[in-house]
Amino acid sequence: MVAYAFKTEFHPAILAGDKDLTLRQAGKKRHARIGEEIQFRDGRTGPVFARATCVLRATLVFSPRGLQRVLHPTFMVPGDAVFRLLQASEQHMHGAGEYRERLARRDGFDSWADFATWHERHGVVKDGACWRELIVWSGVSATGGCVNHPDRRVRTNLDGDDLCQECADAWARAEGEASMDRDQ
Ligand SMILES: [Zn+2]
Repeated sequence: MVAYAFKTEFHPAILAGDKDLTLRQAGKKRHARIGEEIQFRDGRTGPVFARATCVLRATLVFSPRGLQRVLHPTFMVPGDAVFRLLQASEQHMHGAGEYRERLARRDGFDSWADFATWHERHGVVKDGACWRELIVWSGVSATGGCVNHPDRRVRTNLDGDDLCQECADAWARAEGEASMDRDQ
């Protein structure tokens, strides 16, 4: 099991399955292996809000001009669609410009330009290119969050439902109003 931290803004796309990959710095820590469980953490120290299985790993070399190289890719069957997308996105391929836009969107960016510029500013650039570890997952499932907000930490259980602070407050208010009704 390897845990990855994600900012709150990305949680809905991860839980919906729209974001199924991340790019991380090489060499900082051990990355997930094919078939290994990934835990999704709310920031570096927050609770685990989802789990999934790692289905593709590769090293990507890229810049705003394009995806230069896909190094030593490994994948299992649910990762084959992303593997084909990587191949089609390599800059020497016909129509690569369109495919790399799709790749950027799968990471949660609006465009390849946004994707590549963000990664240039947040990490190592070597010979004018970003070198990043790509981690792709499949079968994401939310873990033990609020019954209404699966990505939020559970504060309490009321009437059998796990609730975040906001939902617990709403429940208490509703109960208070109900009891005032009974008192009248
Ligand atoms: Zn809630």
